Amino acid sequence: MAPPVMSEPPRRKILSLKNPPPLPVPPPAPAPAPEPPAGAWKCKPCGTRLDVPEDSDPEAVVRCPSCNANLGKAGQFLSDPPGKVRARKA
Ligand SMILES: [Zn+2]
Repeated sequence: MAPPVMSEPPRRKILSLKNPPPLPVPPPAPAPAPEPPAGAWKCKPCGTRLDVPEDSDPEAVVRCPSCNANLGKAGQFLSDPPGKVRARKA
């Protein structure tokens, strides 16, 4: 009779990912606005639409919400014709 063999601890099951985690789903594109409201601009560097409310402080710097570019002062956006701004009318 052989002496009892020390039994090895049970091997841990190696967990394997059967399915890789799903790729993040891009959020659905927002429905396009039928008509751009007054004060609608598009950032020249990146094309993001932004609004410059008419009651903005003329000295307030308008920044692109997407690329944070300094697009000009609100007063330049609101003057007619607009001053030198890094955005175009949407
Ligand atoms: Zn931008």
